[in-house]
Amino acid sequence: MNELIKRAAKDLAAAGNVVALTGAGISIESGIPPFRGKGGLWERFDPMEYAHIDALMRDPAKVWKVLVKEMKEIVDQAEPNDGHKGLAKLEARDKLKTIITQNVDGLHQAAGSTDVIEYHGTFAWQRCMDCGKKYENREVDLSEIPPRCNCGGILRPDAVFFGEMIPQDAMWRSRQAASDCDLMLVVGTSAVVQPAALMPVYAKESGAKVVEINPEKTPLTREISDYLIMGAGGDVMNRIILELELKTDNI
Ligand SMILES: [Zn+2]
Repeated sequence: MNELIKRAAKDLAAAGNVVALTGAGISIESGIPPFRGKGGLWERFDPMEYAHIDALMRDPAKVWKVLVKEMKEIVDQAEPNDGHKGLAKLEARDKLKTIITQNVDGLHQAAGSTDVIEYHGTFAWQRCMDCGKKYENREVDLSEIPPRCNCGGILRPDAVFFGEMIPQDAMWRSRQAASDCDLMLVVGTSAVVQPAALMPVYAKESGAKVVEINPEKTPLTREISDYLIMGAGGDVMNRIILELELKTDNI
């Protein structure tokens, strides 16, 4: 693993335009449960009943009482971990340009990253269903469920529900970022869900290196990734940053 850490630090140092693609794996260390898979939220909640746009439109109070309240509590309590912080440090060093994330927890922004494309929106903000005004979670008064905007409209998470389209600007910007980068860091995602799955492909097709950080092999590993650093996002990012700092000191 040490050799791969050194290799990643060297590749990062040489790269001029780095983009990261992240998924549920990077937030597990922050206590955010994944939606899919074992232990995921969809094992406890039927997404069609609580996370489909039709369910939200039909009965916002029901969706709020179960899914949104739980997600809001999880997101409000979660702190960014070393994986998020490491990517924010790379941005602060002008090494990382953009993060494309499938997560809805807002933890990249909480860690200090400023250019984050959120495919599925965020549960860290709520949006008025009538006037579109956005509220940070802490501004939302939960004494009445569903909570309401100043205009009287019902608030909903600023997230993409099942049955809703991924915002066009997120699609367009992420495709552009993936095609323009010369190194893509894939952290905590097997990138099997579209459209995230296409991003490493766009990067690869444009001649970029794809460096994968995941706890185990994924479908990307053999086909797309230049190499896989197997481990937890936080630990691997810490070691890469350390190596990168040693490198910079030597120059
Ligand atoms: Zn409103």
